[in-house]
Amino acid sequence: MAGSDRGDLTRTAILALLGTVGPLSRTEIARELDLSPASVTQVTRELMGHGMLEELDLKPSRGGRPAQRLGLVGSAGRALGVKVTADHLVIVDVRLDGEVLGSWERPFDPSSPHALDDLVRAVADVVAQVEAAPPLLGVGVGVPGSVDDQAVGTVNAPTLGWQAMPVGERLRRSLSLPVLVENDVNALAAAERLYGRGRTHRDFLVLTIGRGVGAAIVMDGRVYRGARGGAGEFGHVPVDPSGPMCGCGTAGCLEAFVGSAGLVTAARSKGLLGEAPASAEDPHSGAATGDPGARAAVDELGRAAAAGDRAAQDLFDEAGRILGRSTAGLINVVDPEVVVILGEGVANWPFWQVGFDRAVRAQLMPGRRDISIEVESWDETSWAQGAAALVLATPFDAAGAAGEQGRLVRARLIGATP
Ligand SMILES: [Zn+2]
Repeated sequence: MAGSDRGDLTRTAILALLGTVGPLSRTEIARELDLSPASVTQVTRELMGHGMLEELDLKPSRGGRPAQRLGLVGSAGRALGVKVTADHLVIVDVRLDGEVLGSWERPFDPSSPHALDDLVRAVADVVAQVEAAPPLLGVGVGVPGSVDDQAVGTVNAPTLGWQAMPVGERLRRSLSLPVLVENDVNALAAAERLYGRGRTHRDFLVLTIGRGVGAAIVMDGRVYRGARGGAGEFGHVPVDPSGPMCGCGTAGCLEAFVGSAGLVTAARSKGLLGEAPASAEDPHSGAATGDPGARAAVDELGRAAAAGDRAAQDLFDEAGRILGRSTAGLINVVDPEVVVILGEGVANWPFWQVGFDRAVRAQLMPGRRDISIEVESWDETSWAQGAAALVLATPFDAAGAAGEQGRLVRARLIGATP
């Protein structure tokens, strides 16, 4: 192995350790990573010289001298995160320590023949605004679909109408920056690894509810991507073959019942909402794809439930029950330590919760019924923050999931010319 590669590995290992467990003394770093004190001293001096580490407080010690602790400098690097949806883009500027410095929203039409040009222009516009500040390490892109490889970034996303779309290649060529592209739920899992549950858990599930239903499966600290990058399509778990049509072309998937459009269809059939606007009705598309106003309609249902409307509450309760049964099945298969639930849909979680809790506990195998299931807060930029975490995790990723793009990100972080 070339010396510079070994140096890169040692730097990455030290950054990964401090990024995941927090500040440590040099002695503790040497012990944790099985490195000699001399090489820890040399590499940390170099990282401090690059402005990536700083000396913090003295750690009190019994006997001996108190040890100086080292920590990451949050402003040492930043990344842009881009969330692509069927009608808009959200772009965020995030520091290495997860602090959001700015956010932008742009209308976007993925079905346009110029969709990739439009995407490049929107991202380049933000790059131009933020480039002058501390090192921009790269761009992470989250898409509601499957991606062949983060570092390549060819996207298949039926909800965007994209087939073999060369998103990564096009952005890299136009921006001259490292670009990582990933399924949006997998990107949220990357953020959980960096700033959330992944700090304390090696095996966990991230579930999302909202327009669609998704899952990311983290096994032994890594997102399980499957053979084609398509693992985690939890929304297409079969629930009932006589159920509503799903956007994937089959009937009765989980998402067709509890995704936003499915909830709205069920509410309309019970007379809970007014009729759908004429333009939103598409007899050829399934429940999970048709109605662009579904989000607003679900918000309306949530307000009705909060105001005490029993029928609206029952609708969410039933959705919770269906989600709970499917979630129990997934937990039984994967055996995670913890489950995190995220997404736009958590806004109405209080009304899902009773049905969900009852169903999930009833269906779990004995010995797993006490599993921790946590619902986290959510805002409009959460998806895009996940996308930025793809890039920000790279300096800490000793496993090298980001491949050559990861090496370029690390090179930008230490200010070297790739
Ligand atoms: Zn489906």
